[in-house]
Amino acid sequence: MKFAQDPAAILADLAELRAADAPTHGGRVLSYVYDSGLAELDELAAAAIRAVQPVNGLDPTTFTSVAAMERDLVAFARGMLGGGDDVVGSVTTGGTESCLLAVKTARDLWSGAGRPRLVAPVTAHAAFQKAAHYFGLELDLVPVQPDGRVEAAELIARLAPDVALVVVSAPSYPHAALDPVAAVASAALERGIPCHVDACIGGWVLPFWDGIEPWDFRVPGVTSISADLHKFGYAPKGASVLLHRGRDRHRAQYFATTRWPGYPVVNPTMLGSKSAGPLAAAWAITRALGRDGFGELAASCARSTAALTSVVDGIEGLRVVGSPAGPLFAVATDDSTPADRRVDPHHWADAARARGWLLQLQPALAQSDGSILPHTTHLTITPVTESVLEPLSEALVAAAGDVRGIPPVTPEQVIGSLPPDLVAGLAEIGPLDSDTAWGILQQVGIGGDGGALPERLAPLLALIAALPAPLTERLLVELLARLVEP
Ligand SMILES: *Cc1c(COP(=O)(O)O)cnc(C)c1O
Repeated sequence: MKFAQDPAAILADLAELRAADAPTHGGRVLSYVYDSGLAELDELAAAAIRAVQPVNGLDPTTFTSVAAMERDLVAFARGMLGGGDDVVGSVTTGGTESCLLAVKTARDLWSGAGRPRLVAPVTAHAAFQKAAHYFGLELDLVPVQPDGRVEAAELIARLAPDVALVVVSAPSYPHAALDPVAAVASAALERGIPCHVDACIGGWVLPFWDGIEPWDFRVPGVTSISADLHKFGYAPKGASVLLHRGRDRHRAQYFATTRWPGYPVVNPTMLGSKSAGPLAAAWAITRALGRDGFGELAASCARSTAALTSVVDGIEGLRVVGSPAGPLFAVATDDSTPADRRVDPHHWADAARARGWLLQLQPALAQSDGSILPHTTHLTITPVTESVLEPLSEALVAAAGDVRGIPPVTPEQVIGSLPPDLVAGLAEIGPLDSDTAWGILQQVGIGGDGGALPERLAPLLALIAALPAPLTERLLVELLARLVEP
């Protein structure tokens, strides 16, 4: 067949598109990507994906390689996560899917009356909010301390017969807080409530982390654990595992129907037809690294995390939040320094970005008890970080120097910069149609020029914290939806 376009030209265009992306390798992006720093591991993953490219992961009886690889990964995962023979599970397409399925499973096993409730610290990943929304659970988010720690007693106090699942994190994404797994799981066990440990980010590094409390299947009462292969499992995106204690629990994760005229549908996960690529890549990577390889890479992450947290703690005006468990941490303003010596974490992130390092801005959050979690900047440390420790440390120090003494953007400032008629209308704004939402975005100077974000993100994050959440959420939907409109 004569193609409409020459493959070489198509690939050249793709290369040009990719060149505009944030760099996925080299350690300059400290979130989103988990770079082992081992080029041969990426090559192995690419070859594994290629080998299964045409396979449909929908049916492991027809494509038996899929079952074999999944079986191996479940075995590897339960070994790493302290599970015995009674622990079984599935490979999913990512952390969100693992979390969604943990909640769906708990909901289906719940036998109470009325509406089931999901209890979690407010720091639990947003995927659990999504799960509650999709699957019709009431969401009960428990406030945490300013350092991201949740009191076990506050979670336990919420456990009642209507609770279908309590979730804790190992560790939490925003502040790397290791939740009190043992206390919560044991209280849950006493009450017959399942307890999910979200180890999406920690699952493959915490087994090698020193000085932390037990958090895995060795803890009585832990009924399921999620652990992402596409984070510290170093696999390409599209792979995570969800393990359950007990076959019956795992079986409740499935959906099956024979009540249509087509093939019998028996799906362990949310998708039907699916790629076997990320599964094959993750399978190949776990075999190549083995337990020892993961241990070595975790040790590298631990060295870099120790080095960088001490760099940040040494920067006047900044502080590391809480005691991070794992290779990630949040940075906040050190309020014990005089105002003219403080460093705002968002200005700092913008300054680091101008120097070529991408840190992740996290907005302030008003909790249900009225307390405010301060805005922070997040860094995830991966093995590749060790190769850039020096220039990164220098950039973090220099970026702080660039913005020291500049006060944070206040809600009043961002609101004040909005057109007065818009502000007057904000209070009674109802559901927005797409054109109105787009109009507001233009008025606040976002989304021009192909949906580009402003160079400095600090004001945008302040806006997110200042406006009512439903309004911001609607505006962000508009922004992202316009990005992909033809
Ligand atoms: C990343 C993450 C998730 C969600 O995972 P995705 O792979 O992005 O869907 C859930 N929980 C925690 C703690 C995470 O870090």
